[in-house]
Amino acid sequence: MTPPLDTITPSPVELLSSGSCLLCGRVDLEVVLDLGLTGLANNLPMAADRDREPLFPLRLARCPHCTHVQLADRVPPELLYGHYLYVSSASSTLTAHLGSLAAAIAARVPAHMGAASLDIGCNDGTLATFMRGHGFRARGVDPAENLAPRSRAKGIDVEVDYFHRDTARRLLERHGPVRVITATNSFPHIPDLHSYLEGVALLLATGGVFVIEAHYLLDLIEQCAFDTIYHEHCHFWRLGPMMELFAAHGLEIFDCERLPIHHGQLRVWVQHSGARRPGPRVAAQLEAERAAGLHERSVYDELARRACSIRRDLRTALDGLRAEGKRVAGYGAPAKASTLAAWCGLGPSDLMWIADRNELKQGRLTPGTHIPIVAPERIHSDQPDTLLLLAWNFADEIQLQLAGYRARGGRFLIPVPEVRPI
Ligand SMILES: [Zn+2]
Repeated sequence: MTPPLDTITPSPVELLSSGSCLLCGRVDLEVVLDLGLTGLANNLPMAADRDREPLFPLRLARCPHCTHVQLADRVPPELLYGHYLYVSSASSTLTAHLGSLAAAIAARVPAHMGAASLDIGCNDGTLATFMRGHGFRARGVDPAENLAPRSRAKGIDVEVDYFHRDTARRLLERHGPVRVITATNSFPHIPDLHSYLEGVALLLATGGVFVIEAHYLLDLIEQCAFDTIYHEHCHFWRLGPMMELFAAHGLEIFDCERLPIHHGQLRVWVQHSGARRPGPRVAAQLEAERAAGLHERSVYDELARRACSIRRDLRTALDGLRAEGKRVAGYGAPAKASTLAAWCGLGPSDLMWIADRNELKQGRLTPGTHIPIVAPERIHSDQPDTLLLLAWNFADEIQLQLAGYRARGGRFLIPVPEVRPI
C-alpha cells in the first residue's frame, strides 16, 4: 500500500499558483475537489528514482466571478512537457480519429496551392502527416524534445517550443500565414491563454480556421471522469468562457461538435470574427451547458461526492478480490490512471502490474503510486484473474485486443463512471 496522502510531504519545487483565475485574473478561486498530492501523470519514474519523485497538490477549482473551472495549483511547464511519454500513434483508435479530423478539415477548408497547416502540440506528427496527405504544407510545434525526431522521421518540420506570441511571430516571418491551425488535446494545457491566442490571431490567415479538440467539461461531469484531472490540464473548458476569451482576441467560434473520442470531447471551429456566419450548433451547445448547470457550484460538489463513492467501491472490490486469493493487474497506464491510482490509494499490493502497449512507459512505475508498467505480453504469461481497465474510455478496443485473455477465463473490472465488472 502507498502511504495515506496526508502523510506525504509536498515537493519543494515551487508551484506557480497565485490563487487568481487564469481566465479573468480575479482572485478567490474556490476549490471544489481536492485530489491530494500526486506525481505528475505523464512523468513515470524509473524504480531508481522512486524516492526522489516530486509530488504536487491536485485541486480542481472554480472561479466565482467568470465561473471558469481550472486547477488551483500549476506546475512549472518544463517539468510537464520536456520529455513526454504519450505518443498519439500508440492508440489505433486515436490514430484513426486524427485521420478523420484531417478529412473533416480538408472538406471544409480545402488546401489551396501551398496552403499551410500548423499542429500545435504535434506530438509524434500523426495529425500533421494526415494533413499533408490532404495537400497542406504541414508543420508542427511541440516542446517535447524526445518526440521531435519521430515527427521529423515522417518528414514533418517541428519547432521545438511552446506556442505563444513570440513563436507565432517567428513562424509568420519564416513561413507566412497559416490556413489551418489545429490543437488537439493541448488547449487545456495553456496557462498563458492571452499570449497563446494573440499568436493564433496573428498567424491565422484571412478565412483560415483554428480547430480545437479538447476534453469537455460537460462530458467530465456526465461521466464522472474526475480521473481526467491532472496537472497538465489546467483548464476544463466549456463553450461559455471560451467564447468570452476568443472575443477578446478578435476570434469567434463558428461551429462545434461533440465527439465520442477519449472520454468525450468538444471540437471547436474558430475563425477571425465575422468571417463566416456561426452555425446553429453553437447556440444549442451553450443552452445544453446552461441546462446542465455547469456555471453552478452544486454540480462540482456532486462530482466530488461521486469521486468519493468510486474510491470506496473500488477499494471494496479490490480488497474483496484479494481476500478471495484472486490475482489482479491493470491494463492501460494513461495519464488518468495516475490520478485514479493516487485518489484510490492503489499500490503494487492491489495491482501486481499494469500492462501498456506504449513501449516508452514499459519498465517504469506509475507516478506517486509506483505500480510497475509492463508489456502486454505479460497478460498471457501471468494470466491474472482480473484486469482493472484504467484506460476505461478505450474499453471496447481493449476487450477486442484481449479476447484471448477473456476466453481463457480472465475478467475485466471497470472503475469509471462506476465500479463494475464488464
Ligand atoms: Zn475567472
